[in-house]
Amino acid sequence: MPTDLSGQLGSAVDSFLSSAVVQLVLYSVVLYLFIVWLAAAFWAFRDMHDRTENPVMPYVAAALILLPTPFFFVLGVIVYRVIRPGERLGEVYERNLAEEALLAEVEAVRTCRGCDRRVGEEWIICPWCRTRLNRVCPNCERLVGLDWTLCAWCGKDFERPVVAAQPSAEGAQVASIPDAAGQTRPARPAGGTIANRKPAVGG
Ligand SMILES: [Zn+2]
Ligand SMILES: [Zn+2]
Repeated sequence: MPTDLSGQLGSAVDSFLSSAVVQLVLYSVVLYLFIVWLAAAFWAFRDMHDRTENPVMPYVAAALILLPTPFFFVLGVIVYRVIRPGERLGEVYERNLAEEALLAEVEAVRTCRGCDRRVGEEWIICPWCRTRLNRVCPNCERLVGLDWTLCAWCGKDFERPVVAAQPSAEGAQVASIPDAAGQTRPARPAGGTIANRKPAVGG
């Protein structure tokens, strides 16, 4: 009886395996493994291409996946993931860029030329050593550099103050205000400008 049963079982398994549907499923599984194997090799090729500039290494990576056959290529994938370079070239590039940006930021930090301490971009005077850092435009009251010859915001010319040429009440008041650089600007003799102008007016 047992032999009979095993024989029946064996023939049942045989007929099961030889049935068209099961054959199709088995073939599909093998085909699927084959496709995944090739796709994994392609992935390793591209992944290595992103991680090294060496033109040979991507092929080595693909071979590492292809050599263990479609049935054991997962082992190759594991080995590849262990030995591949840790960073992609893009990541290395980004990291270098970030480092450079950080460095530029550090270098751009403004320091007082008097005491070398860190000062604010919009400060007009160093609170420690009293060095002038910026001045305020007398016309528009915005911050201007100490070495600017005219105001970048309103266009007021610092070299040729018009207040000296026209000594009106308002002008005289402005002229007496000390320059932001800390020195009282010598009021240009009104006569000079007017004298220069006179021939043009007369002629
Ligand atoms: Zn200072
Ligand atoms: Zn101005």
